Amino acid sequence: MLGLYIHVPFCAKICDYCDFHAFSAPEWLQLEYLDLVSREMSAFADSHPGAFSRVETLYIGGGTPSVLSEEALARLFAIIADCGVDFRALKEATMEFNPESCDEGRVSVALGSGITRASLGLQTLRGDLLRRVGRQHDVATGMSALELLTSRKGLRVNADLMFDLPGQTLGDMLADVDWLTDRPLGHVSFYGLKVDPTRRLGRRIARGEESVDEDLYAEMYLRGVEMLEKKGFLRYETSNFARKGEESLHNLNYWQRGEYLAFGPSAHGFFEGVRFSLPERYAPWREYVKNGCPESALSLDTVDPEDEVAELIQLSLRTKYGMPLETLKNKGYAIAPEAIERWVSRGYLECVQGVIRLVGEGWLFMDSVVLDLYANCAIYSNLE
Ligand code: SF4
Repeated sequence: MLGLYIHVPFCAKICDYCDFHAFSAPEWLQLEYLDLVSREMSAFADSHPGAFSRVETLYIGGGTPSVLSEEALARLFAIIADCGVDFRALKEATMEFNPESCDEGRVSVALGSGITRASLGLQTLRGDLLRRVGRQHDVATGMSALELLTSRKGLRVNADLMFDLPGQTLGDMLADVDWLTDRPLGHVSFYGLKVDPTRRLGRRIARGEESVDEDLYAEMYLRGVEMLEKKGFLRYETSNFARKGEESLHNLNYWQRGEYLAFGPSAHGFFEGVRFSLPERYAPWREYVKNGCPESALSLDTVDPEDEVAELIQLSLRTKYGMPLETLKNKGYAIAPEAIERWVSRGYLECVQGVIRLVGEGWLFMDSVVLDLYANCAIYSNLE
């Protein structure tokens, strides 16, 4: 399956923990960005005729795509369609919204242009916690945005919830999950705060002005998952939970090593066996587009068979579907049985009918399990 990702690098305000490429931008810069995206996508369409007509999922992320004005959004959708994407044929078209810019007008433009799924950056329903991490919106705005999105017919809705925020108790987190899972939405992304020491929040923590209880991380994740699942939102990826049939097809494609095109500063893609990254900052990306999008300005990584095996283990184990050992064998590789057994005996992994999957607290130790399995993976004939 071929996906299409477009990165909109603008936000109303930069959150204190954010490590994405995003900044606040005046209207003229938004217009310049649209012109550049249009040129970038057209250059790709010219060099890869017919590629855009094969796109099956679209994801407009950021940043905050919903900070674009209604006119700018309409222009972005027109650019995508002009390049050959057939919105009526898409299996899924997602756009990210933040509560402060999620209004009737923008939602109508998005729906009218073919968006079928909205992802809302709600994060928490505690106003003091939103302020402590520097979010722009307040609780009332978050709730109204969610109500607006879930009231629109034909629109599938995800909400992001964060846990292990500074000052957040287990009870606060469970109250968030409880409230949210009573709303008519189909998907929740539930992820722990990552503190980057170079960002405002990280610096406040380093100065002792703020603190995060890291010991609560594991308990919050496990208790949050328990409540999500009890309320019908089943984990299909380490941080993603969906009611039946509400999984994100676009994101599943990433984890299943499907191809996806990517445009906009700092976007990453995977196409024709090559992983690529666009220039990370806005100014170098603008130069790249103005120079006609030369491949030499991209960071390129051709996926060789060994990389493929590493990706397969890493990405498959993120999901509930796990990894069939046969898939590795077909590529000429196998994991030493004693390595699998080591994690199975600890209750972190299961191996059922030749498929390995994380279970229980194994989800918390995903990185260690993946690294160990990969370290014990070898060319099949060497293990016989
Ligand atoms: S809204 Fe998201 S992308 Fe924008 S600053 Fe906050 S965390 Fe970063």
